[in-house]
Amino acid sequence: MNFFHTSIISVDQFSKTDIRKVFELADYYRKNLDDGKVLTDLKGKVLTALFYEPSSRTFASHIAAMQRLGGSIIPIQGVTFSSVAKGETLEDTVRAFASYSDVIALRHPQEGASRIAAEYSTVPIINAGDGTGEHPTQALLDLYTIQSKLGRIDSLSVAMVGDLKYGRTVHSLSKLLSLYKKITLYFVCPKTSPMPKPIISLLTKRGVQIKTVRSINEIISIVDVLYMTRIQKERMDEKLYNSIKNMFILNADLANKMKKNAIIMHPLPRIIEITKDVDENPRAVYFTDQMRNGMVIRMALLKLILNK
Ligand code: ASP
Repeated sequence: MNFFHTSIISVDQFSKTDIRKVFELADYYRKNLDDGKVLTDLKGKVLTALFYEPSSRTFASHIAAMQRLGGSIIPIQGVTFSSVAKGETLEDTVRAFASYSDVIALRHPQEGASRIAAEYSTVPIINAGDGTGEHPTQALLDLYTIQSKLGRIDSLSVAMVGDLKYGRTVHSLSKLLSLYKKITLYFVCPKTSPMPKPIISLLTKRGVQIKTVRSINEIISIVDVLYMTRIQKERMDEKLYNSIKNMFILNADLANKMKKNAIIMHPLPRIIEITKDVDENPRAVYFTDQMRNGMVIRMALLKLILNK
């Protein structure tokens, strides 16, 4: 794809070549940051981070990415304090911020909101999570973490655990993984929160082996990646939440049964699905690699979108 001035709405836009391009630039930025270099690639450019749903990491890492490249930011979080609370539509809000900035990172509770915003915006929109839909930048950083920790993406067994129905990160990540060869996906989820059927059909069509299981125990010793997610409490009623919240919990004993080189990932926030004693496990990468990679991946995307 031609990244320049293009909105990033869904992982469906990405080919393997596009992914490689993003990863190469992310590698370059990661090395520069490690070497303590000060970068000015996006000096004079402005990012609006327009967040209608709570977020800490995705919000902060888009901002940090822009600032690390010498650009400036308009941070809008908790939009209840702005004109949106007065009843302004998303279209109008986006139109206004498009005239102040060169790119807008948008988080919104409604699936498809980024696509609508992109129709009205004169500057590119980056989907920073749209309801239960997609989270493309998270999927790219997750894939980049897998590639850099395990040295490959082909021939991997990945378990996705938790709320696969409402969790947008697993929707986007499974679709990206399906571009690679010999992928096995284990879905470990409550019966009430399965991976959506259209995604399963796409994955199957692309040759992914899919197995749904009902306990982490069944797959713990065979997977290369254990991708834990929280139950999306805000997207279901309390009774259902309480009945499934304790179903899949990774503790230190379980984590120790994993392959030596396997990794444990989580898009965060972690609630109760990973006990604290797992954090020290050398396989856990959620507070380390995933964090740092989130920033460098977003640096690469911003650069590709904003500069020819
Ligand atoms: N932070 C991730 C997201 O925005 C994961 C989550 O909230 O569970 O989708």
